[in-house]
Amino acid sequence: MSDPCRPRRGNRRRFLRQMGRAALGLGSIPFPLRSMAAGDAREMAGQANAPVAHKNLPDVVVVGAGAFGGWTAFHLVQHRARVTLVDAWGAGHLRGTSSGETRVIRAGYGAKTVYTAWAWRALAQWKHWEREWRTELFVPSGVLWLCAEEDAYVRSSLAALESLKIPYERLSSEEVRRRYPQISPDGVSFGYLETQAGFLRARLATRTVADAVARGGRVLVAAAEPPAAATARLERLRLADGHELAAGHFVLACGPWLPQLFPQFLSQRIRVTKQDVFFFGPPAGDRRFESPGLPVWIEPASWFYGVPATDGHGLKVANDHSGPPFDPTHGERIASPEGVATARRYLAQRFPALATAPLVETRVCQYEKTPDSHLVIDRHPHYENVWIVGGGSGHGFKLGPTVGELVARQVLGLGGEAPPPEMRIGAVAYPESVDSLATSSF
Ligand SMILES: Cc1cc2nc3c(=O)[nH]c(=O)nc-3n(C[C@H](O)[C@H](O)[C@H](O)COP(=O)(O)OP(=O)(O)OC[C@H]3O[C@@H](n4cnc5c(N)ncnc54)[C@H](O)[C@@H]3O)c2cc1C
Repeated sequence: MSDPCRPRRGNRRRFLRQMGRAALGLGSIPFPLRSMAAGDAREMAGQANAPVAHKNLPDVVVVGAGAFGGWTAFHLVQHRARVTLVDAWGAGHLRGTSSGETRVIRAGYGAKTVYTAWAWRALAQWKHWEREWRTELFVPSGVLWLCAEEDAYVRSSLAALESLKIPYERLSSEEVRRRYPQISPDGVSFGYLETQAGFLRARLATRTVADAVARGGRVLVAAAEPPAAATARLERLRLADGHELAAGHFVLACGPWLPQLFPQFLSQRIRVTKQDVFFFGPPAGDRRFESPGLPVWIEPASWFYGVPATDGHGLKVANDHSGPPFDPTHGERIASPEGVATARRYLAQRFPALATAPLVETRVCQYEKTPDSHLVIDRHPHYENVWIVGGGSGHGFKLGPTVGELVARQVLGLGGEAPPPEMRIGAVAYPESVDSLATSSF
């Protein structure tokens, strides 16, 4: 197709110079990961992102400007690939899963230690790039886990934090009450605080990453059609308006739309569920429910979690249980009355001062959930030059920088950490009759 959105050469050169400078001043920590302090962000981000010299610049089309597609495109641009990032509605649109106002970033992941390591690395990358972009994307509120018991999940999480030297503080129920008098710790036997964790301004971040891609590649608003596999390599991707995008490599990071695009191999792998999110308004002039007065909190026993009131939104409360099946294009985004009632009951118990707080906003988002909550990062089963990235399962946003980095390197054949086998398309499937499974994203 003709190329109306190609950036002018000067812009692209200037961008690459800036990226190169950002990278060259930095030291070295190789990918795969090793334990490091989040303060090592500059050092870490530099080595992994150092551009490689390509004689013939590879060209890559990335479909989906959410957390996974956006960061993949960004890392590809840094590697001097010629990148086209395509999104059906544009980065940060409200149907996308990455478009919540906030997303939690924490490293406790039970026995799924790969995500502990990835989240910790991602935290360093978020901090590095928000500084480079001069945009506050990460809020270091801390993440407080409120635990009813020291079960296997909690024990594994703490062991993983310790082995990667990720700081946390253990708090008795009484210490939780003393430190955060706005929280009633009834039913909490102890807590632990991930002191360097917090939350991300997700929608802003999604748009900021796409803007960074646009400074070195091109970003299009267009709907891609699923390729009909007939050959070993995909040469061009058809758009709904009849145009085609030719490229050497393709990455399809279409979030909750993936099962619709590839029902033949993803409908049993990823299920899309409706997730209601509630924002309650604190009393006038009361800052106890904002960071730094209140951290993010997570309750593994009830699967409730929340984010401090931020940027004029209320205190965010949600439950991690998978909701009913949901269509991300046509689904009406209206929260259920039962969900409101349950959230209110929970709020009254955990934050008594907000027992009568008004509901000031609701959001309906969707999980693109795999049966075991592992991400999906794999080559297309038929096309050797097409990667599929998704299955965020209610926890993928924070991991965007790390996943994007890994995928970009795989696409360009640069080696580094390969996606683990549990993230393969064929790794695990839902039983036919089941819409979703009661597995937590925590
Ligand atoms: C309520 C809720 C709370 C969550 N909380 C957290 C949290 O606290 N921490 C965390 O880390 N994660 C969290 N998550 C999960 C996280 O938001 C997702 O894992 C992540 O945003 C998924 O990103 P994605 O890029 O796969 O999908 P998306 O953000 O949906 O991006 C996919 C993009 O692909 C585009 N697209 C689809 N099909 C086409 C096509 N044919 N042509 C062109 N473009 C197309 C879409 O327009 C969309 O923009 C939460 C999710 C929800 C719903």
